[in-house]
Amino acid sequence: MAERSLDTEVQFLKGVGPRNALALNKAGFHTAGDLLYVMPRRYEDRRHLPPIGQLRPGQWATVQGKLVNVDARQTNRGMVILKAVIRDATGHIALTWFNQPWIRRVLEKHEGDVLAYGLVKETSFGMEMAAPEWEPITEDDDSEDFARIVPVYPLTEGLSQKVMRRAAKSVVEHYLDLVQDPLPEELRRRYKLQKLRWCIRQIHMPESEEMRLEARRRLVFEEFFYLQVALAFRRAEMKQELGIAFPISQLLTGEIQRPAPAVKEPKKQRSAVVELPDHPVHLFEQDQRAKHEGAPLWEQIHEMLPFELTNAQRRVIQEIWADMERPYPMNRLVQGDVGSGKTAVAACCMLAAVRSGYQAALMAPTEILAEQHAVNLRALFEPLGIEVELLVGKLSAAQKRKAAERTSQGVTHIAVGTHALIQEGVGFHRLGLVIVDEQHRFGVLQRKALRDKGLGNPDVLVMTATPIPRTLTMTMYGDLELSVIDELPPGRKPIKTHWKLPFERQSVYLGVRKLIESGRQAYFVCPMVSESEKMLTQAAEELHRQLSTGVYEDMRVGLLHGQMKPKEKESVMESFRRHELDILVSTTVIEVGVDVPNSSVMVIEDATRFGLSQLHQLRGRVGRGGNQSFCILIADAKSEEARTRMEVMVATNDGFRISEEDLRLRGPGELAGTKQSGNLDFKIADLVQDGKMLEVARQAAMEAIERDPALSAPEWAGVLARVQERRSDMAVVTVS
Ligand code: ADP
Ligand code: MG
Repeated sequence: MAERSLDTEVQFLKGVGPRNALALNKAGFHTAGDLLYVMPRRYEDRRHLPPIGQLRPGQWATVQGKLVNVDARQTNRGMVILKAVIRDATGHIALTWFNQPWIRRVLEKHEGDVLAYGLVKETSFGMEMAAPEWEPITEDDDSEDFARIVPVYPLTEGLSQKVMRRAAKSVVEHYLDLVQDPLPEELRRRYKLQKLRWCIRQIHMPESEEMRLEARRRLVFEEFFYLQVALAFRRAEMKQELGIAFPISQLLTGEIQRPAPAVKEPKKQRSAVVELPDHPVHLFEQDQRAKHEGAPLWEQIHEMLPFELTNAQRRVIQEIWADMERPYPMNRLVQGDVGSGKTAVAACCMLAAVRSGYQAALMAPTEILAEQHAVNLRALFEPLGIEVELLVGKLSAAQKRKAAERTSQGVTHIAVGTHALIQEGVGFHRLGLVIVDEQHRFGVLQRKALRDKGLGNPDVLVMTATPIPRTLTMTMYGDLELSVIDELPPGRKPIKTHWKLPFERQSVYLGVRKLIESGRQAYFVCPMVSESEKMLTQAAEELHRQLSTGVYEDMRVGLLHGQMKPKEKESVMESFRRHELDILVSTTVIEVGVDVPNSSVMVIEDATRFGLSQLHQLRGRVGRGGNQSFCILIADAKSEEARTRMEVMVATNDGFRISEEDLRLRGPGELAGTKQSGNLDFKIADLVQDGKMLEVARQAAMEAIERDPALSAPEWAGVLARVQERRSDMAVVTVS
């Protein structure tokens, strides 16, 4: 026999043998070590066997009894039905199997009791179990499948529970002593974690439910811990990179009269004015026009914005500025519910970048949004002499060339576009800050892409309007710093959401009419009939036709869908913005970011076709002005899950609560918009149920690294090895 090691091939395991080994290999288990970490899907407590006489139909149970009769009969379709009856002192039950005649031979030879596990059914001939798991037992049998808490493993074709259990048990019994615990004892003690060997044993052969949970707790911690250490390493690495240190402090006091130098030099000894090397001429020319240039930054902001910032906005701006001032590249995620005013935050940061002598880029997920941002930002920045350029696909070739030229020469201070801005390789003169709006559509921006395009190492800010559950933030986006705008601008009235059934549609239409007659505007979102743009377009056109020729014949009804040309989309949005339309019928094109404060009602047709986050996003298009706004969900919610979604929407406007609910209903992969993120790939842990442990593991990782930044002490060797593995799995999150 080969030497005992965790690399021992499964065929050499005691009680496995070559045939079973083949099945195990096929399922991906090649060595003893592979089997240690297979997690059972569930467990069955087979320790307390109920008397047969007390079985109830519908119950999963294990029973033990003496074989009283076994016979087989062939159906006219050629199936062989085997029926064995067993009994104990209290009653009897029939066990049935299809097409497994060999069972009969085993049973007939067997003298002792039979154990069976399955679903109890009641038939006209008494209690029955169809296709139970079963085992003949003998006096001296220490059966692995019965009389204990039995693990039920995930199986693939050709691999039976029995084989799987036997193999796992064999490894636990003969190889466990070879397992080294990677977690240092001190860490285990501090977080009250059991030893690895004990845990693995409890996972495969639990002594009690409590011990099993205790074991799982440690394994979950461990799994989260490696990820959190990996993420912390990544954050630390990014801080090693050379980035731009924006002279924010000087901007705040107004010490800077002219843009600061591009490359951060060690801070000069508090000299009043920063010297200017090689600066492009046109920036100076612009500067001459700039009215507020040189005023303390907050003063400029005060001039620029038509409203007072909320405390949350202020706090987040300061967090971002503090990052910008540091000499390494910023990687920060700003979360704020719809309408929390992320654009203003972005504007303040871009102002700081521009006043430091850099360009900023704002990237939106759609051209419509990019347009809207450009319009809004121009209104804010033009009075300050700051040039905003819109760079989108629909520009003519000549316009594009010109815009690109202005941007690469540095005439443009702020470039607004879709992510094509980076992908198409628009050149910048001195790009300092990149802001990605509504990141859910982008995935986390890849810094590498920026560098590949020769755009240096700018600060990157990602903004998302869809609040992300904390557990996801700590995993998917765990390598980003986080800022949360947790306050809405004052005077907002919470949107009232109603869920109506299809037959109530007429009264909904009437209500909307009243609002329109009082001067408001309305959105109608057509159902998400399919993934295909073409079908969506048809649905939108159909709804538009119905409304504009039917109930709202006398009103101005517009149409917006994804298949329209950018020019057409823009002109429709513009008419709606100018209140030349009362109603906008749309697909989810309007989902993200569109801001028309006068529209105060949204009707979502067939609302159950949308996910929670999407509904929340859509709803966020109203409630942006001072008027009471409404969201009407028309839905015939048939499934329990769909009803839950509608009820959550009616119950709360809180995006974080909605996202937690969404996580629970859809699971992390769906919610994150990517099923293939290494960061979400857990073997044991479950983001929905183990959120608390994730916090603990993150805390532990940060503590450990604080004390030993590279974890170079020998006791961390095991952890480091696993963290390296984890890091190679941590694919960069990309566009979904
Ligand atoms: P979102 O966070 O959804 O992107 P926006 O930036 O579009 O939100 O802001 C929503 C609306 O709130 C805009 O009309 C904006 O002008 C307004 N707004 C933002 N901040 C404030 C504030 N502090 N006070 C009043 N209104 C604000
Ligand atoms: Mg926005």
